[in-house]
Amino acid sequence: MDFFESVYKGEPPWDIGRPQKEYIQLEQRGEIVGSILDVGCGTGENVLYMAAQGHEVWGIDFVPSALQKAQEKAAQRHLTATFLVLNALELHTLGRTFDTVIDSGLFHVLSDEERHLFVDNLKCVIRCGGTYFMLCFSELEPGDYGPRRVTQAEIKDSFRDGWSINYIRPATLEGRLRSNGIRAWLSSISKR
Ligand code: SAH
Repeated sequence: MDFFESVYKGEPPWDIGRPQKEYIQLEQRGEIVGSILDVGCGTGENVLYMAAQGHEVWGIDFVPSALQKAQEKAAQRHLTATFLVLNALELHTLGRTFDTVIDSGLFHVLSDEERHLFVDNLKCVIRCGGTYFMLCFSELEPGDYGPRRVTQAEIKDSFRDGWSINYIRPATLEGRLRSNGIRAWLSSISKR
């Protein structure tokens, strides 16, 4: 958390000032339905894009200053969204479910133990049949820049029980320091 707080004092490399292309395409293809929770929403670009498309959207993050920027952008753009300071390992405290959960760059920052706890928490906030979309660094991204790489096998292992994996596709994460983008996996995983 200290790491993220200090990075948000400057310009985080992941904070591109616009929604991620993969999420725009998912929405345009009609894969994103109903109410949405964005886990680790940062300064809210993906949340605000979804709000502009008419979705009810909540965004959570554990860094208050990131959410403050998100609120300011929402006000400037006359968009309605709910932003809450919350640890993604405590999603169960939200006390409600969503049709869709989106994740752009959260899963790959979690440790092995945190992943288990996070997936248990996801189950509490997504309705049966609802879908979790996740965009994470893949092991195909060379070098050691950025967070840990995640393999398809690790994704499958994390979502073994009670989930159906619709697909795990090669994708691109946009970043401010990588003009060609970062090699990523885009996963679509539904709760049974
Ligand atoms: N989705 C945003 C931010 C990606 S970076 C975007 O696309 O720009 C990962 C984000 O997850 C950061 O904003 C960080 O503060 C947040 N984060 C990391 N661990 C978290 C946790 N345990 N609970 C809530 N937020 C977390």
